[in-house]
Amino acid sequence: MSEVVLETEKLDKIYRLGRREVRALSDINLQVKNGDFISIMGPSGSGKTTILNMLGCLDKPTHGKVILDGVDVTKVPERKLYKIRRHKIGFIFQTFNLLPYLNAIENVELPMEGTKKSGDEKEQRARELLEMVGLSEREEHRPHRLSAGEQQRVAIARALANDPTIVLADEPTGNLDTKTKYDIVRLLGKLNMDQGTTIIMVTHDSHIATRAGRMLSLYDGKLVKEKEGTQLLKKELVCPYCDREIQPDNTFCPHCGKKL
Ligand code: ADP
Ligand code: MG
Repeated sequence: MSEVVLETEKLDKIYRLGRREVRALSDINLQVKNGDFISIMGPSGSGKTTILNMLGCLDKPTHGKVILDGVDVTKVPERKLYKIRRHKIGFIFQTFNLLPYLNAIENVELPMEGTKKSGDEKEQRARELLEMVGLSEREEHRPHRLSAGEQQRVAIARALANDPTIVLADEPTGNLDTKTKYDIVRLLGKLNMDQGTTIIMVTHDSHIATRAGRMLSLYDGKLVKEKEGTQLLKKELVCPYCDREIQPDNTFCPHCGKKL
């Protein structure tokens, strides 16, 4: 059985707005195992961003625990949390959040600032990551010279810079056209299958959500159901549509022709 890398226990988040209380998360109990690819789906306001903020140590829950690599991070003081965030979590956002005056390599190098790596090692790692996301030809380009899909690829490379325990993605395909959004989710699926990267992806798009291994649904701050996604079938090298054998790098099923 794979090891549990991230776990929540009885997690509640209540925002207080003056005298009014907004219960954004209620009794969330989640176990994430090494190598999981999880999607979290839910309507606007259901608590998707809030749950990622708790899992990514960007904010603390009102009650409950978040245990990352065996440490209850809700007990860690803020001044120590940034190190945990930098080394254990990679973030991907809907709006990419690249720095406009830095080129692709420099953007990917950023999270490695303050680590023990030398300048050459950082650059080498950034080049490897850009190659992995298919952007070797674009290393020197600044964000405005990249398409939206390319910018998100740079952001994915940046999220992987410090080899995090887990990658958290908040609506990573929300600003992309249909073709590009499938390219990006396929890239995430490939990283999960080839490198074993653990991914939690929030989306309100059910077609995108089914590409994960585990599909969770959030409604009014509660986890209401869990289903298996198609990534598990792809890991088992079976077409999710016709049940026949496929190869990990197939984009279309060689038998039924459906897009994988
Ligand atoms: P989603 O990402 O699914 O759209 P959010 O996690 O952003 O939902 O929000 C969940 C609920 O918490 C919503 O009702 C939202 O209005 C509320 N909320 C989110 N952030 C805050 C905040 N900083 N202060 C007060 N209420 C908030
Ligand atoms: Mg949100």
